[in-house]
Amino acid sequence: MNCIEVKGLSKKYGNFQSLQDVSFEIKIGDFLAILGPNGAGKSTLMKIISTLLKGYSGKVEICGYDIEKDSKKVREKIGIVPENFLLYDKLSAWENMIFFGGLYHLPRKVLFERAERFLKSVEMWDWRNKKIKEFSFGMKQRVNIARAFMNDPDVILLDEPTASLDIKSALAIKNLLKEVNGRGKTVIFTTHILKEVEEMANKVAILNFGNLVAFGTLEDLSKNLTEKTLTIEVEDHLQDDLFSKNGLKAQKIGQKVVFNYTTTQELDMIINMIAQSNLSLKSINSSKGDFDRLFLKLTDKGRDKN
Ligand code: ADP
Repeated sequence: MNCIEVKGLSKKYGNFQSLQDVSFEIKIGDFLAILGPNGAGKSTLMKIISTLLKGYSGKVEICGYDIEKDSKKVREKIGIVPENFLLYDKLSAWENMIFFGGLYHLPRKVLFERAERFLKSVEMWDWRNKKIKEFSFGMKQRVNIARAFMNDPDVILLDEPTASLDIKSALAIKNLLKEVNGRGKTVIFTTHILKEVEEMANKVAILNFGNLVAFGTLEDLSKNLTEKTLTIEVEDHLQDDLFSKNGLKAQKIGQKVVFNYTTTQELDMIINMIAQSNLSLKSINSSKGDFDRLFLKLTDKGRDKN
């Protein structure tokens, strides 16, 4: 079964189109990163999926339940880490865990066990009796995330969980997310940090001006979209137009030619042309395009050009 199905999701703030016909599906146990520049619509998408924002068109189902019609069921299944902390400043870390866990009517023993387990997993157990207002930003976020696990959610939704965090806090959070995902939980998070995506996620959604411009596994995306290069260095004198046939993208730099390609068919054509040219090769190098370049390429278009 799909864990989340988003179908034709659009959201307007007044006349402003914040999300435009976004559709994707993820499976149980997926680790999805939602990426995009500022204002791309990431938080809007997260808020809708988290049942916190209404007034959209389209449909979202989580674990087979419609987020609007069956919002109560959906809330039992999800743990939410919104942009702002969902914690009481005047209560201690422990009291917050017990208060929020209490909303799910858990038996006292389970409540206490979970509060202890998740405070320990974000390395905040030693600080459990201190009030939230005394904590640093990173410590607050660690408790905020531990809180989201109190209902033992199948799906955890986090809006920029590691933004502005110190290294220790970011690491504790990343380790916890990897650990719960390893136990079969589905994780969805938004981020600006491409390295985090490569480290943790198995699926990626890239938003730009409210449009879903890419969706798939990291492997799929880099296979199909990333521009890669093949560079040859030759002994012979190169004619300027030798390789500028068949629409290939080739750039001559001295004794070198750099070919840009995206598909394996293009690579085959390049190799065939090199073979037919009878040039004696001095060296040959290939470089896989990286995810940073892919991201920049997909998100450099302005709203007007979409
Ligand atoms: P991201 O999380 O990718 O930075 P958001 O989802 O927060 O993007 O915002 C997407 C767009 O919608 C932005 O241009 C933002 O200004 C606009 N927006 C977000 N929330 C509101 C709101 N409450 N009222 C009006 N416009 C909003």
